Amino acid sequence: EMYIRDSSHIAQIGIELTDSPYVAVSMRKMARMGKAVYDVLGTDGQYVPCVHTVGAPLTEGQKDVAWPCNPEKYIVHYPETREIWSFGSGYGGNALLGKKCLALRIASAMGREQGWLAEHMLILGVTNPQGEKHYIAAAFPSACGKTNFAMLIPPAGYEGWKIETVGDDIAWIKPGEDGRLYAINPEAGFFGVAPGTNTKTNPNCMATLHKDVIYTNVAVTEDGQVWWEGLSKEVPANLTNWKGQPHVAGEKAAHPNARFTVSAGQCPSIDADWENPAGVPISAFIFGGRRADTVPLVSEAFDWVDGVYKAATMGSETTAAAVGQQGIVRRDPFAMLPFAGYNMADYFDHWLQLGQEVGEKAEAAGNKLPKIFNVNWFRRDAEGNFVWPGFGQNMRVLEWMIDRVEGRANAVETAIGYVPTYDDLNWTGTDFSKEEFDLVTAQSKDQWITEIESHTELFNKLGERLPKALKERQNQLLEAVKKS
Ligand code: GDP
Ligand code: MN
Repeated sequence: EMYIRDSSHIAQIGIELTDSPYVAVSMRKMARMGKAVYDVLGTDGQYVPCVHTVGAPLTEGQKDVAWPCNPEKYIVHYPETREIWSFGSGYGGNALLGKKCLALRIASAMGREQGWLAEHMLILGVTNPQGEKHYIAAAFPSACGKTNFAMLIPPAGYEGWKIETVGDDIAWIKPGEDGRLYAINPEAGFFGVAPGTNTKTNPNCMATLHKDVIYTNVAVTEDGQVWWEGLSKEVPANLTNWKGQPHVAGEKAAHPNARFTVSAGQCPSIDADWENPAGVPISAFIFGGRRADTVPLVSEAFDWVDGVYKAATMGSETTAAAVGQQGIVRRDPFAMLPFAGYNMADYFDHWLQLGQEVGEKAEAAGNKLPKIFNVNWFRRDAEGNFVWPGFGQNMRVLEWMIDRVEGRANAVETAIGYVPTYDDLNWTGTDFSKEEFDLVTAQSKDQWITEIESHTELFNKLGERLPKALKERQNQLLEAVKKS
């Protein structure tokens, strides 16, 4: 409502026509909708036209089904004319067109033209006991922890610290006159994965679900409550599975991609400024995927270009690697590979140019560009277990980052970036040992040479349009690692 009333200069309007009531009510939670939007739009305002159909018209007398769809599915974006046409699917990003289609694919193309960024990023606010507040934006590929990180609860030992949520999936970021980058969450709701979510892993998320939720493809208990794998240890008796049939032991009761759709305003950790039309100023960007080895817990980029290189070459492993077996690394630049609305090499170039321009503005105003960090919560030991406890414990890494931004935390320089030693992190309230820390931060020269050389595969795909600065950075990095 606030965006609509004050019409944030970062906001955009989309109009979706759909033949699916499910899509209409879901979008009511995911976007700001209603008369106020028409007031902003007026008779000549700009909007993104979105046309959606499940592609299943009923013939005379034909009975409807629960999930109408068409075996043939397609989705077309026209970044040039900023239109979205979606046919055949009734679910997720193919149907809720304000989300990935408008807020990432179309918006990223708009952002390139107009000098801003549309990113696959959560936004959180972190406040220390002294009341100092920083906003952080973080890009992790799908299923790599954005929603969890956005709603992080500080662990024991962090009394007086506060984490507040601005968004859990998408950020639109515009440079201000002061050379700082201001971000809004363009969405009004969360469309989150239910399985694995419980009061232990994400209590803020569970509390958000206390009322007015649209659940999709979850299981239902005898007394009409929802259930999914991981909600409780015990599987309730007499479940109805996501297909509406009696649950069979050993099979999944909820679909692994079962979802909740809920208003973000219901989240107990929602930030006071989450609907501030001016956006929130970003102090740091974080990039990270799932890597069983090679990539340390955290490293800080040397500068903007190095940060763009780290984000551009970010990778994630497909499916949990079996014991002793290495997962296959898929490059997912900026976690945007499926969502960038234009050529990826041009996208890197846009980031580089924006850094250059904004950096100059920032310097003139006595401000700094956000620092860029690379994280990996998913390092594994020889038995294939995660070494880093993750979730709330990620707070310890966050504190170090904030202190680096403020120029008061120590780090050592390595070939791949600045990293903390064991003593540079705050271990109050945990017995996480130096030996374990060494495991999650170890840098293997051999693994890094293989890693950097493998970036060539991505760069070759991008061909001539790859910005020279990134190729140069690769060569420098390789040399530095070989010398280390
Ligand atoms: P999103 O799709 O990026 O929003 O990711 P989610 O926050 O929904 O998390 C995806 C999966 O990663 C869930 O199974 C989480 O339990 C798991 N996860 C999230 N954060 C962490 C973490 O810090 N460590 C580990 N080991 N798993 C995590
Ligand atoms: Mn999420």
